[in-house]
Formats: sequence, structure tokens, C-alpha cells
Amino acid sequence: MQMPTPDTAILSRRAAVLRRLAAALPEPALISDPAALRTYECDALTAYRCPPMAVVLPGSTQEVSACLRICHEEGVPVVPRGSGTSLAGGALPTADSIILGVSRMTEVLETSLADRIIRVQTGITNLSVSGAVEDDGFFYAPDPSSQLACAIAGNIAMNSGGAHCLKYGVTTNNLLGVTLVLMDGTVVEIGGGHMDAPGLDLLSVICGSEGQLGVVTEAMLRILPRPEGARPVLIGYDSSETAGQCVSDIIKAGILPVAIEFMDRPCIRATDEFSGAGYPDCEAMLIVEVEGSDPEIDEQLGIISQIARRLDPVELRVSGSAEESARIWLGRKSAFGAMGQINDYICLDGTIPVSELPAMLRGIADLSGRYGLEVANVFHAGDGNMHPLILFDANADGELEKAEELGAEILTLCVKVGGCLTGEHGVGVEKRDLMETQFDPADLEAQMRVKDVFDPGWLLNPAKVFPLSVSAGRRGIAAE
Ligand SMILES: Cc1cc2nc3c(=O)[nH]c(=O)nc-3n(C[C@H](O)[C@H](O)[C@H](O)COP(=O)(O)OP(=O)(O)OC[C@H]3O[C@@H](n4cnc5c(N)ncnc54)[C@H](O)[C@@H]3O)c2cc1C
Repeated sequence: MQMPTPDTAILSRRAAVLRRLAAALPEPALISDPAALRTYECDALTAYRCPPMAVVLPGSTQEVSACLRICHEEGVPVVPRGSGTSLAGGALPTADSIILGVSRMTEVLETSLADRIIRVQTGITNLSVSGAVEDDGFFYAPDPSSQLACAIAGNIAMNSGGAHCLKYGVTTNNLLGVTLVLMDGTVVEIGGGHMDAPGLDLLSVICGSEGQLGVVTEAMLRILPRPEGARPVLIGYDSSETAGQCVSDIIKAGILPVAIEFMDRPCIRATDEFSGAGYPDCEAMLIVEVEGSDPEIDEQLGIISQIARRLDPVELRVSGSAEESARIWLGRKSAFGAMGQINDYICLDGTIPVSELPAMLRGIADLSGRYGLEVANVFHAGDGNMHPLILFDANADGELEKAEELGAEILTLCVKVGGCLTGEHGVGVEKRDLMETQFDPADLEAQMRVKDVFDPGWLLNPAKVFPLSVSAGRRGIAAE
């Protein structure tokens, strides 16, 4: 992975920059000790590492603004960070940058059940948002598997999703407003506690902008009443294509389950051994969950079972209780951990039209055979968001590079069948150099002009999202 050469002029001013930051922040909010900086040298894409020049952990929007103003005046790049769980290297620092983390900003600022809103500081974890309103019978819908750890800040920056986003949408569909601090320290309010806002829809530009445009310090989120109940059905097939067909048939029938999750044999085997979930011995498995009152659930699960039976399943297990539901979900929820126990892997994140699932699975199997690397599939099938896991041996010479090449081919195939490079993990550094397979030069230029407006000096989150060859010189030109 190519990264820009650190700016030696900035590094030579390190001590002076840190003195200014220290003066603007309370005592424990500046980290500059080399050993402590190691904690921040990577995110969950651990293949790439680089300790930053320093880390600042402000406690308020005003402190964020003060830090950014100093970095702006000093010409120091800033990498915004939530909890550091990005799988795309979105929070990877450069040696001449400051990491600005919001992990000390975890307060719930306002809740209104009548308006179905909650306003939070963005360092709060995703799960804590639901936790704050669960006693009142409400929840926050987007549910990344990392929800115990990841922050709302990162969710907004990556427009994150999860298993239940098939029904409720991803972050952008549940975000009403943000407080955004621009690189020069200016604080702006975008959107608010209402369904729509006058003027340009800048909120949609900010959500998913991967820390390129500003630092989000507060967010107004939509909360929803918790459904009466939810139950899944587990369906096993003797081929991945048939399972893919079943997904298309369910959606085509006009049913909207809350989740449709897919796992193929390597994943079923690994997760079953890891969790003891009691999964069937089959090539592919679906977990389809529906919500509502008990009679509503029974009716929907009945229709889904009928559709599934037409394709001759090897197993069809309808959950009749909370215990059975928990058992069905057990393996799926531990899928990434289970795979990590037995193999090194690269987790991809392409999205395709649901109707292309069977063809895409065939394509992945062909590519996997050609490269001689096993690919395990576990993904949110209902909305076509695929997570092929490329299994490789990190200790074998050249295997990481081979796995990366295979990953690039799979993501390119996603684009070819009408999908896109990322469903929920973002571009970061991981897919930066593939952006030209999705966008032509005019598209990329239009996107970079948006960044020019918000961050004319190109100081925010360097070397992410835009291919270096395309954005080369942008920082210098924009700063002139
Ligand atoms: C085991 C595991 C499972 C996962 N499952 C899912 C899943 O189901 N769905 C999913 O969508 N993702 C998933 N992820 C990926 C990851 O958790 C999400 O991308 C998450 O939203 C990142 O949040 P974070 O707070 O950790 O952000 P970070 O990793 O800290 O940062 C992510 C990006 O956000 C930017 N950013 C951070 N804070 C701010 C801010 N205040 N203002 C502006 N930009 C900011 C960063 O610069 C970076 O580009 C998973 C990750 C792991 C490790």
C-alpha cells in the first residue's frame, strides 16, 4: 500500500505544534509518548500501520474546534477517529498527522420520545444509543456487528449498516442532523430534529464522507419503537446458487424481512465448531428474520417457508421460541471471530443487485479456484451487501499480495454486475486505488471539488478515498 512521504517540514515543527495543542486541551487529552502512540497506529485493517505524530482526545465541540484551528494554522494533517474498528483503513494515520479521537465524547445530550429523536456526542458507541432508550421501549436501528465497540462518529463517516438494515435502512436513513467542525475550526449545524431541512441536503454529503470534509462532534438520530417480537427461520441448501435464488424469490414476493443472512459451507463449518450452534451439514444456509406480533410473525414465516420449500431445502427450521432464535443466531453473530481463529483473512464488502446473487456466487467460486485461495461467504444477502472472506496464510511468501489481487478482482466483478465497491465498510485506503473501476475521471473530479470546498488545504484524513494518482498535487494546488 503506497502512502505519501511524510512532510519533513511538519515533523521538524512537532514540538511547537504539540505545545500549542497542549495549551488548548486539559492535561490527559494529548498523547505524544511513542509507546502510547502505538495504540493508534492502525484500525481493524491491521495489515497497514503507522504511528501518528500525536493523538488528541478533546472532550467537547469547542475543544475539537480549538485543535482543528491550530492544525489548520500549522498546516498539520488531521485523521478523525471514533473507536478504530474500520475494516478499510479509514482511520490509518500518516507519520506527519495528528489523530483527533472523539472517544471521550460519549454523552447523551437530549432525548425526546415524542419526537423519536436522541442527540448524542459522537464518541458514544452504537449499542449505547439503543441502551439509552431501551427501558422506554425504543431502539436505534442501524446495527453493525461491531456495535459494542464502534462509535456513532465512525458509523456516520462510513454510513454503516448491519443485519437489520434491510428493513430499517443504513445510517443515512436514521440520521437527522450533525454538528460539524470544519478544518479551520468553524462550527456548523447541518439538519436538525425534523424529517427534512430547508436548503441543500448537505447531511447526505456528510454521511459517508469518511472524515474528508469535517469532524462530526454531535448527532441527532432517529429512534424507533421496539417491535413486539422477532423470530428467524434457518434454511439450508445443497448449493450456494439455490440459496441465492431463494433470497431473490423472497424479495420478489414482496416480503420485507428484517434480516436475510447468508453463510456458505466454510463459514457454516467454522462458526458451528466455534459456537456449537448446531447448524446443518449443507453447502449454504440462510437465516431469515421477521418482526411483529406473534400471529404476524407466524404468517410471514409461513410464506417464507413455502417459498423456500419450492427450492428443495436440506433443512428448514422455524424458530418457535426466544431460546431457539438465540441458537439460530449464535453462529452467525460469531462468524468473523470464528473465521479469525482458524485462518488469516481479508474481509471484502461489495454490494450487488440482489437478482445477481446466484451469478455473483458462481463468479466468486471461479475466481477462488483460479487463484487457489479459499473464499468463505457470510453476508447480508437481503440487500446484496456481500462479505466474501478470502482465506490465506500470512506467513506464506506472497500470499497476502495474492489475496489482495483476488479481492480486487471480486470487487471489480461487483461493479461489473451493476453493484459497487463498498456496502458499509467504506473506501478508506483499502479500496482507494479501485475507485477508478467505479467512477470515471469526471465523477472523481466532481467529488474532489466537494472536498476542495470543505477542506481547501486537503488536510483532513490524508491519502484515503481518492486514488493517490488522481489526487496527487491536490493538496498543494488547493492550498495555494
Ligand atoms: C468485527 C467487525 C465487524 C464489523 N461489522 C460491521 C457491520 O456489520 N457493518 C458495518 O457497517 N461495519 C462493520 N464493521 C466496520 C466498522 O465497525 C464500521 O466502519 C464503523 O462504523 C467504524 O466506526 P469507528 O467508530 O470504529 O470508526 P473509526 O474506525 O475510528 O473510523 C472510521 C472512519 O470514520 C472517520 N471518522 C471517525 N470519527 C469521525 C468524526 N468524528 N468525524 C468525521 N469522521 C470521523 C475516520 O476518519 C475513518 O475514516 C465491522 C468491524 C469489525 C472489526
